Amino acid sequence: MESDATRMCQLLVGLPAVTILGVIDEHPDAAIVVAIETALEHVERCRGCGTRARIKDRDPVLLTDLPAFGRPARLLWRKRRWHCPEPTCPAGSWTETARAIAAPRLGLTDRAGRWVTFQVGAHGRTVAEVAADLGCDWHTVNRAVIAYGARLVDDPARIGSVTALGLDETLFVKRGKWRRKQWSTSIVDVGAGQLLDVVEGREAAPATRWLAERTPAWREQIKWATLDMSGPYRSVFDTMLPDAVQVADPFHLVRLAGQKLDEVRRRVQNETLGHRGRKADPLYRARKLLVIAQERLDERSKGKLTGLLKAGDPKGEVTVAWHAKEAVRELYAHRDEQLALEWVDQLSEDMRWRDCPPEIRQLGRTMRKWRTQIAAWHQAQVSNGPTETMNGLAKRIKRVAFGLRNFVHWRIRVLLYAGKPDWTKLPTVTP
Ligand SMILES: [Zn+2]
Repeated sequence: MESDATRMCQLLVGLPAVTILGVIDEHPDAAIVVAIETALEHVERCRGCGTRARIKDRDPVLLTDLPAFGRPARLLWRKRRWHCPEPTCPAGSWTETARAIAAPRLGLTDRAGRWVTFQVGAHGRTVAEVAADLGCDWHTVNRAVIAYGARLVDDPARIGSVTALGLDETLFVKRGKWRRKQWSTSIVDVGAGQLLDVVEGREAAPATRWLAERTPAWREQIKWATLDMSGPYRSVFDTMLPDAVQVADPFHLVRLAGQKLDEVRRRVQNETLGHRGRKADPLYRARKLLVIAQERLDERSKGKLTGLLKAGDPKGEVTVAWHAKEAVRELYAHRDEQLALEWVDQLSEDMRWRDCPPEIRQLGRTMRKWRTQIAAWHQAQVSNGPTETMNGLAKRIKRVAFGLRNFVHWRIRVLLYAGKPDWTKLPTVTP
């Protein structure tokens, strides 16, 4: 057991090569402040001429530290300012640094900086929550997360070999007076459910550039390239991954079919009753039942849906759109690789039949345009391509604060949480 007073203080404060100058305890509710200076272990010499430097003055900085014994804590580091006594020397004066205490220009101690990075990055906690834990402001925490996090995110080892790569548009922030949407593109390892990177915009150029920065060997490993049915991403793959098999993401096709059903319902509602859906209108009452997957409707709900459609859909257009939506879902229920293209063609042809509502005919044309990519999903499934982990990844991406206006910051935050950085490296990275 240690009972030497000086040594006890040092042990409690837990920093190497530091002298404890005193403890400031102004109020039991306020943070406890520990004043320190570095222990002088060697002679400080001028970096310009090598002359022994002199202390000019002290430059105290107040750093937020991890809470101590249930109280928020601050470290008051009395930094020495050195100067060169040689009158002709251009070196002038400089302030000491000690990375074990704190990285330059961050308002947090080094250990607090690493801790907040882990809380925000690995646990997906908000910066505001973590700042409240430490009793400091949002910006102090954010700056530290970005400084430490950038090193983990830009670690080249974070990106391994990838056999299934996906591109997906992601809303980054709604900005400005009109809440204009700012888009980004997520570049994803679809097999591992890992966010590899995000680039600004949803055009072809940024993702193309990102792929061009990888090595040819890395790109050649990619067998599957998944995409929503968007032209720009198709052109990224055509240019950069010409040998990869393009796969349309089932989620996007199913969602598109759902949107078309919704459009038909709204139009028919308007045409038959002359106004937007009201509480008592049959189609308005059917709107939730229409969304539910057929196999999840019990007998009572099925009966109710049939009745509501009978009442509100005189030409059967909503019914057709509902069947179309279910048929698209059905496409993914069977696993026959050989029949997939035939199924897609048959379905898109049925949808383009002239008696179909125009919205469904349009869906049929989209399916025809993307027929090989849609059918390729079955092939990819068989070969262990894209997996279900993608759902979890999308949730992770969404969870990271929206409203962060700075893309560079957002990128680091989202990659810390969804990009599988190597957290074992956190204790050793230098911001
Ligand atoms: Zn000098």
